[in-house]
Amino acid sequence: MSYLPPFPSAHREAALAALAEFLPRAGRDYAEQRNHDLGPSDRTNVSLLSPWIRLRQLTEWETVAAVLREHDAKSAGKFIDEVCWRTYWKGWLQQRPSMWTDYRADVARLQAEQAGSEAVQAAMTGATGIDCFDAWARELVETGYLHNHARMWVASIWIHTLALPWELGADWFLRHLLDGDPASNTLSWRWVAGLHTAGKTYLATRSNIRRYTGERFEVTVDLAKTPVELERSPPPPVQPLQEWPAASAGGRTGILLTDEDVSAAAWLAAEAAPAAVAGFFPAEAYEELGTANHVVRFRREAMRSALGKSADSGLFESVDRLADWMKTVRIEVLLVAEPPVGLWTELMPRIRELCGQLDVQLCLKRHGWDDLLWPHATHGFFRFKKAIPRAMARLGEW
Ligand SMILES: Cc1cc2nc3c(=O)[nH]c(=O)nc-3n(C[C@H](O)[C@H](O)[C@H](O)COP(=O)(O)OP(=O)(O)OC[C@H]3O[C@@H](n4cnc5c(N)ncnc54)[C@H](O)[C@@H]3O)c2cc1C
Repeated sequence: MSYLPPFPSAHREAALAALAEFLPRAGRDYAEQRNHDLGPSDRTNVSLLSPWIRLRQLTEWETVAAVLREHDAKSAGKFIDEVCWRTYWKGWLQQRPSMWTDYRADVARLQAEQAGSEAVQAAMTGATGIDCFDAWARELVETGYLHNHARMWVASIWIHTLALPWELGADWFLRHLLDGDPASNTLSWRWVAGLHTAGKTYLATRSNIRRYTGERFEVTVDLAKTPVELERSPPPPVQPLQEWPAASAGGRTGILLTDEDVSAAAWLAAEAAPAAVAGFFPAEAYEELGTANHVVRFRREAMRSALGKSADSGLFESVDRLADWMKTVRIEVLLVAEPPVGLWTELMPRIRELCGQLDVQLCLKRHGWDDLLWPHATHGFFRFKKAIPRAMARLGEW
């Protein structure tokens, strides 16, 4: 199935082909050139891997291992750091889950109050009159991708020049980005707004945009020179990560894949040989969020591809269908890769309840990569970064 350019398909084969194609450029070339947004027709200076990495159609550990087979650790350092930013954001949110639920409540309130406002509509349809912003707004909706620097500029202009609520901008991104990820997206928007790190706000400037876009834009409108001052309440206290008990040995085991980690069938099988594998696609949660069709299609396709040929019978979108499957294959233990805070936050309690009703032991597991790195995501990235070499030393195990 072909997809929106530049993403040919959600399948693992497409992800592996994109990784192989990018590998020669993942060293010094990436470190030196990645900040340039050369436009949709030239993305050779970045990897474009995020839609697959987001779903773990390509895992962080295999991506980093592949890069280290072609480049020494120093040359690949910048790329590895970027891959680990995702882990950092996920670990950070996992230890402050209320930040996600508060943000979703704020989005709902703001949508009721302002989503129909002319200024919000003009921004989301690329009709602000700010040439670069309008081009990126259209690119986001048409391709499901924006370069990292463009995401920073768009978020900055949205918040500081157009003075729109950051939550509505974050929601707009989350609904359209193929790699839309609750942690990376919400916390990056908060960072641009000056809410993540005290005293740090990101302000887009005309000269920076012109320089890093190869002067593709005029930027004739004045951009904000001072940031909007948002009230920064202290982040919720760190909530320790859950420790998951081992499954009781001997029960008939089923693995349930989620779209948060489609690689999990492989690594969960090391816990207990499964009698059956199925997937659950949270179609209802995506619909509630108002997720764009291209995102939903990409993710469903990624799950089908991860499940293989039997996918049609084993990919469920309702808790009732999942219940039927668990009864039919007589599951006693259900193994699931712990979903990060986000769309699964509300769904997981329903699956737990179902397991309780069917007398099935629900057993959550965290991959070693997350288990090692997430506990270090308590402060800033630079403190977290010190733990990365420990993960690099264990790549051979995963
Ligand atoms: C306001 C804003 C919103 C964002 N929203 C998302 C989002 O919803 N989902 C998402 O995956 N990324 C998000 N990012 C991070 C980043 O922009 C994208 O991951 C990156 O642009 C993806 O393109 P790429 O694969 O070509 O990246 P590359 O530059 O090739 O980076 C390689 C990989 O590293 C990871 N990565 C790189 N930069 C970051 C970062 N800053 N944070 C987390 N991971 C990173 C991605 O997995 C990416 O595939 C956001 C950044 C900003 C500023």
